[in-house]
Amino acid sequence: MWGKRLAAIVICGIICFAAAAVMEEEPPADAIEFVAGKNYYEKTVAITFDDGPRARTTSRLLDGLKERGVKATFFVVGQNIEGNEELIKRMYDEGHVIGNHTYTHVELNKLSKSSAINEIVKTNEAIEAITGEPVKFIRPPCGAWDEEMYFEVNMTPVFWSVDPKDWCTGDVTGVVSRVMGDTADGDIILFHDIYDSSVTAALEVIDRLQSQGYKFVTIENILIE
Ligand SMILES: [Zn+2]
Repeated sequence: MWGKRLAAIVICGIICFAAAAVMEEEPPADAIEFVAGKNYYEKTVAITFDDGPRARTTSRLLDGLKERGVKATFFVVGQNIEGNEELIKRMYDEGHVIGNHTYTHVELNKLSKSSAINEIVKTNEAIEAITGEPVKFIRPPCGAWDEEMYFEVNMTPVFWSVDPKDWCTGDVTGVVSRVMGDTADGDIILFHDIYDSSVTAALEVIDRLQSQGYKFVTIENILIE
């Protein structure tokens, strides 16, 4: 079930947001089961938001998700939590899944093992102090993940399969049409909730997909269901 998702590797430029390219690899042999079972995800997608929380944009997004009855997954940056604790609490209370996106938005494979673990643990602690629940999922910035890290932190890495590159453009129409063109059953859509244009585009995408009969689930459900 991981072929397409694991194949979405983003290669970052000077800084994470500078440049990115998605490469798709041949799915592994055991991906056949996923393809065969893909109907299980018929008209089902997960929408995910990285890099927040950010007071204005994240609260507008949460309002929009609530209005539409959509549960999403947020991969938050630890250092953005201070001062925005009520947003984390609100995400949790409203049924969204909160995952880890490191403390300083760093590419983990560029750090020593102990620094990488610290980035993850510190963020988990900041989230858990608010929600009271362990954090199960991590989205490593730029997709930089070493399998060895799984055994260190025992968290599930979550990648993505639809990437409209919303972080590098304010073109809402273009972002919406890229997502609509690329999204199929079982996809994991990547957005960033720190930009006004991304929030506008994400809500538009939700409206359009809902009108096509799609339902939105959290990462927990699309991975485990
Ligand atoms: Zn990020």
